[in-house]
Amino acid sequence: MKKDILSMTLEELTSEIVALGQPKFKAKQIYRWLHKAFVDDFSQMSDISLELRRILDDNFVIFKCAIEKKLISEYDGTIKYLFRLHDGEYIESVLMKYKYGYTVCVSSQVGCRMGCTFCASTLSGVVRSLSTSEILSQVYAISRDNSIRVSHVVMMGMGEPFDNYDNVLKFLKMITDENGVNISMRHISVSTCGIIPMIYKIMEENMQFTLSISLHAPNNDLRTSMMPVNKKYPVEELIEACRKYTLNTSRRISFEYSLVYGVNDTKECAEELAKLLKGMLCHINLIPVNEVDETGCKKSSPERVKRFADILSSKGFAVTVRRELGADINAACGQLRRSVQNN
Ligand code: SAH
Repeated sequence: MKKDILSMTLEELTSEIVALGQPKFKAKQIYRWLHKAFVDDFSQMSDISLELRRILDDNFVIFKCAIEKKLISEYDGTIKYLFRLHDGEYIESVLMKYKYGYTVCVSSQVGCRMGCTFCASTLSGVVRSLSTSEILSQVYAISRDNSIRVSHVVMMGMGEPFDNYDNVLKFLKMITDENGVNISMRHISVSTCGIIPMIYKIMEENMQFTLSISLHAPNNDLRTSMMPVNKKYPVEELIEACRKYTLNTSRRISFEYSLVYGVNDTKECAEELAKLLKGMLCHINLIPVNEVDETGCKKSSPERVKRFADILSSKGFAVTVRRELGADINAACGQLRRSVQNN
């Protein structure tokens, strides 16, 4: 079977190239074609000899994301991609344009098995995890399609990154490699529903990316009703892990809190949340829930969102309300893939 060349670090590729009887420096040349020029066919590697290109073709495959569908927001230029993978599965990625640069939101799995009640990605469960190459190639395909340099990455697409820990960790190392896209680690966010052992594990890597925690509720009863993962990893243990994480890495944690009308957007919830996070180095990102037909969750009203934010700010928290980008193209995760599945 041909090997997945795009998932190889420069070091791994170098051993492969040397094992094929080629000079070591060729590996760096090939790596740059793959991770800087984003070619998806060996024939495009114009300064590599025809003979070596043939050898590469015989031994390796370049996994790519084929653009199946592309929706462009008329409001803000956000572009949502539906990609087809080599085995016919679909994933979604989003390109957002901000004043400070281009951000790509990537998926880490096909589907998701976490079962959050408000989320479209998890409705049909998980199919499989993505390889490192499949996570990288979302960024590469979008860079190529728009002739841009992506400066920021958020792992907030489909899937639970910490349910695909090894490939996600490798992705973080490769996307920040100076021989590749060379994105600054500080420009990357990884979002998790709270798989506690993996928070401790990645803490040991002492990386500078931003850890986002999908909290969505300030206590176990409410959180378990919205996020089944809370049964295994309850709020108090999650918050303890977060406190240790901030102390160990000196990095501020970002808490995601999607507001569902009448469920978790009350005054009482805001006050309980403030107590829970008291004294922590953190930031709270409020997201009026994106309504998905199948889930029946209703979006919080602007007044209730403001009341919630004001309570937290008055207690000294850094709070933002997420600007809704791409509202006209259903940019929330999982909705586009479902639309092709259901056809
Ligand atoms: N599995 C990871 C990343 C996936 S989604 C996680 O749970 O963090 C990125 C964020 O969007 C998460 O905070 C998730 O809870 C939230 N989200 C999912 N569906 C949503 C919806 N319909 N409206 C608002 N936020 C949603």
